[in-house]
Amino acid sequence: MPAPELDRLIQTLARLPGLGPRSARRAVLQMIAKRQTLMEPLIAALASVSQTLTECRICGNIDTADPCAQCADPRRDASLLCVVEGVADLWALDRSSLFGGRYHVLGGRLSALDGVRPEDLRIEGLLARVACGDVREVILALNATLEGQTTAHYLAEQLAAYPVKVTQLAHGMPVGGELDYLDEGTLAQALKARRPLA
Ligand SMILES: [Zn+2]
Repeated sequence: MPAPELDRLIQTLARLPGLGPRSARRAVLQMIAKRQTLMEPLIAALASVSQTLTECRICGNIDTADPCAQCADPRRDASLLCVVEGVADLWALDRSSLFGGRYHVLGGRLSALDGVRPEDLRIEGLLARVACGDVREVILALNATLEGQTTAHYLAEQLAAYPVKVTQLAHGMPVGGELDYLDEGTLAQALKARRPLA
C-alpha cells in the first residue's frame, strides 16, 4: 500500500479522462522516477496555468490572457466566425491551422435530456458579435451528433435575422464524432467543403 499522500495523488490523477487507477499509479511511479525532469516541471506548469487561467470575454476560449490569443491576433479574418461547442473543438481547429478566421465557443449544445437551454449557452454573445456587422460568414462547426445538429439549426434560425451567410462543416465527419478526435485531413476536408445550412 502506498503512503496516504501518494494514494491521494493517485486517486486525484485517476479522475482525469483517459486515466484509471492503474494508469494513475504508473504515472505517479514515472514522476517519482523522473522527479527533476518530469515531476518538478509538471508542478511548475500546473501552478502557472492555475494562476493565469482566464476565459476570453469575447469568444469564451480558455487562455492565460483576455482577450485570448486568437481574438487578439490582428491577422485573423474578422469576417469569418467559426462556432464550436467547446474549447477542445477550438483547439482542434486551431492546432491544424486550417482556419484563419475567428472563433466563438458556445460552451455546450442544446439538450432536452440534460436540460441545456439556449440561455445556458453563449448565444447572446454570438448574436451580439454578428450584430456588430463585421461578420460576413458564420461557420457552424458543431459535432455531428443529434444534439449538435439541433443546436446548429437553432442557431441558423436565430442568425436568419442578420445579413450573414450561415454554413456548416461538410459531414465527411463520423456521426457522433467530436472535432477533437478528427485527423487534420478530415478536418481540412470538412472545412473546405462547408456548405450552406439547409
Ligand atoms: Zn477569444
